[in-house]
Amino acid sequence: MKKQPYQLQTKLLHNAQKVDGLTGAVSVPVNRTSTFHQFDFDKYGKYDYSRSGNPTRESLEEVIAELEGGYKGFAFASGMAAISTALMILSKGDHLLISEDVYGGTFRFVTKVLPRFGVDYTFVDMSHIEEVAANIKDNTKIVYIETPSNPLMKIADIKQIAKLAKEKDCLTFVDNTFMTPVLQRPLELGADVVLYSATKFIAGHSDCVAGLAVAAHKEIAEQIYFLQNTIGAVLSPDDSWLVLRGLKTLHVRMAQSSRSAQQIAEFLSGHSAVQEVYYPGLDNHADRDIHEAQSQSPGAVLSFSLKDEQSVRIFKRHAEIPVFSVSLGAVESILSYPAKMSHAAMPKQEREKRGITDGLLRFSVGLEDPDDLIKDFAKALSAVERLSEIGIGG
Ligand SMILES: *Cc1c(COP(=O)(O)O)cnc(C)c1O
Repeated sequence: MKKQPYQLQTKLLHNAQKVDGLTGAVSVPVNRTSTFHQFDFDKYGKYDYSRSGNPTRESLEEVIAELEGGYKGFAFASGMAAISTALMILSKGDHLLISEDVYGGTFRFVTKVLPRFGVDYTFVDMSHIEEVAANIKDNTKIVYIETPSNPLMKIADIKQIAKLAKEKDCLTFVDNTFMTPVLQRPLELGADVVLYSATKFIAGHSDCVAGLAVAAHKEIAEQIYFLQNTIGAVLSPDDSWLVLRGLKTLHVRMAQSSRSAQQIAEFLSGHSAVQEVYYPGLDNHADRDIHEAQSQSPGAVLSFSLKDEQSVRIFKRHAEIPVFSVSLGAVESILSYPAKMSHAAMPKQEREKRGITDGLLRFSVGLEDPDDLIKDFAKALSAVERLSEIGIGG
């Protein structure tokens, strides 16, 4: 499709999925087929087998590539399928430099699987550019960023890191799950690959598990396509359709949830039962200016810490609106407990070293009325103050 000078909000609707070329349908048809009949014995058609290519999945892949300003998009069966497939670009003897408070599943893949294939790694705090510079080795092939990081919302300067990586002949990968292309477009800042758990904001309705990757240029796109087809962790046509539908409302969802997140972060910052609030929209966030320079808004996820596990138990019991679960980026607000959920795969010592304490909660803001959420939290926090004082746990 011809590139149009539209804003992203318009592009979410005016894109490769707008009208089906064959029927005019305004919703992409779900091509639930494994194989494709070849009409000409000598000249095979565009599609042959759905692992290698499926029209519904391809619509999603085209749309995400266009939204990111990338060369080619790829849809996978989960965020972890996208991430681990893309990281299989690494070979024996290569080194990976990666954000220290990376998503727990990525931490598990990097520390438990890659070493079996002779790939070495170093975790660094990507919010310190000197640490990034100091840890790029001769054999470093990929610099892998999550920003804001999960769950402490540390900010890495994508442009600076991508520049540094390029000078040392390394690729830059960015897990952009927390921001989505609506709020942050890493390829425009010099990254080579952007990765998503589309399970989160992109699909947005807690109804499917999906992953996406977008390559900035042809060479890396060819490598990812080869691995996608070889490993085969592709997204089904039905789930591709759900992700395409989620994308249509991504802009309004991100705008509303980010606005509410800012209000909630400010409310929590002023509360005596809350020790710390981690949100790049707050004045006291160390790298707020870097985040503002590379993103449209601070996003819809924040973390905050209470005194201890006991306080967390009380808070959870008294907060009635949010779902208490793993995951984030949905229409409903989700409260999660990193120590026992997203970061359970990380040894306690590693976890605490990274600041993911037993009192830390992560909150993904949904589409509820922000005043209702604040009232709900106010009630839960006063229960924390009241009950922990008299020593009653959860
Ligand atoms: C959830 C998540 C993943 C993993 O994605 P799945 O779809 O659950 O496989 C990766 N990165 C981040 C930042 C996530 O939040």
